[in-house]
Amino acid sequence: MDKKRIVILGGGESGVGSAILAHKQGFRVFLSDSNMLSDAHRETLETYRIDFEEKGHTDESILTADEIVKSPGIPDTAPIMRKILAKGIPVISEIEFAGRYTNAKMICITGSNGKTTTTSLIYHILRSAGLNVGLGGNIGKSFARQVAEESYDYYVLELSSFQLEGVYDFKADIAVLLNITPDHLDRYDHNLQNYVDAKMRIIRNQKTDDAFIYWVDDPLVTKEIEKLKPAAATYPFGEKKTGQMAAYTENGKLYIQKKEDIFDMELELLALEGMHNVYNSMASGIVAKLMDVSDEQLRTSLSDFKGVPHRLEKVATVRGVQYINDSKATNVNACWYALQSMRAKTVLILGGTDKGNDYAEIEELVREKVRALVFLGKDNSKLHAFFDGKVDEIRDAASMTGAVEAAYQLARKGDTVLLSPCCASFDLFKNYEDRGDQFKECVRRL
Ligand code: ADP
Repeated sequence: MDKKRIVILGGGESGVGSAILAHKQGFRVFLSDSNMLSDAHRETLETYRIDFEEKGHTDESILTADEIVKSPGIPDTAPIMRKILAKGIPVISEIEFAGRYTNAKMICITGSNGKTTTTSLIYHILRSAGLNVGLGGNIGKSFARQVAEESYDYYVLELSSFQLEGVYDFKADIAVLLNITPDHLDRYDHNLQNYVDAKMRIIRNQKTDDAFIYWVDDPLVTKEIEKLKPAAATYPFGEKKTGQMAAYTENGKLYIQKKEDIFDMELELLALEGMHNVYNSMASGIVAKLMDVSDEQLRTSLSDFKGVPHRLEKVATVRGVQYINDSKATNVNACWYALQSMRAKTVLILGGTDKGNDYAEIEELVREKVRALVFLGKDNSKLHAFFDGKVDEIRDAASMTGAVEAAYQLARKGDTVLLSPCCASFDLFKNYEDRGDQFKECVRRL
């Protein structure tokens, strides 16, 4: 019989990683991308002699697949996907595919906000503790490529709802669900439950000896848990101790409890600031305890973690004003947490491509903490409609240079200038990294 034919849709990091792995596993492989590939990815495919096409999909090459590995960025409504689904060809994600070829223990993190931070923190803790661990999912080198080229005992994987949609037999040995707030609803028929269902796939296939760590203060999450009754041992964390908790805070300290063993640490010593990061530290700490990392090692790692760029990243202090880059705050909830963690009066730069935002969520914090607003977007009309009359000073900017200049003029000594946009960046920037990098560059030029 002929070897199975695997078609990879999408030639980004995850697609190219899947192609390498499929090739190494001896399948016939074809990769197809509707856009241009990056030079690096094209060269990689050529080196491995993997067949591919770019700038368009050829039906005959794709619809003859035995199985399709789809990049998380491609929606089921794309014309080629409609044809694939109509033909009944099985479609899986890179995570499902790569998961078949490794016996490593999987630690998987999902949520609407905090995934990258928590995934990176867990990786930092486990690596510092000397474990042979890989970092993947939405971050850095793809999981599939690492399975093909390296050999790890553990993987820490950041999983988006899009990646989770394409998992079937994959199982997280330790699953972490940080929170669920509306995001990406445009991809879910504007139906929140569809998005929630995708996120909850993180506990699919889990058994009694697996672990499920979740934020107990999130009503959406707790409702799902009542409904789905997870098979795994559950480890809830939250602000206050309510019932059986795996982690909580009390009197300025963070506690992590594993049976009789209680770990504690002063909140002030945590590397990451803000209540949201206390949650991220709790989730990471529970993972560490489950992996038997020593208390001393955990304390050190929670206090010396360097953070991730574009997430409440301190850029510089210029004339007594601190500048913070939170460009990754692409939804209102992320901005809420950023504002909540501000200790000084704040000049907030926000705006961009609106994803159906409801600014009422941050209104109270804006009234309490914000000295001035700078709207940075091609179309600021929705921001004006909501905030005009609620904040004394509002300026418009059409470029990062203009926004930073305006913020510089508006801020007083002791203030903070915070870029936490609530919006996607695609109107004026390539992506959120470009937006954050431009912000940092403009601040450094002040
Ligand atoms: P994700 O990978 O889920 O997008 P990030 O770690 O990149 O999450 O953080 C995205 C944004 O959300 C940042 O602005 C960050 O300050 C904020 N954030 C981080 N952790 C949390 C959390 N637990 N709850 C709410 N917001 C958070």
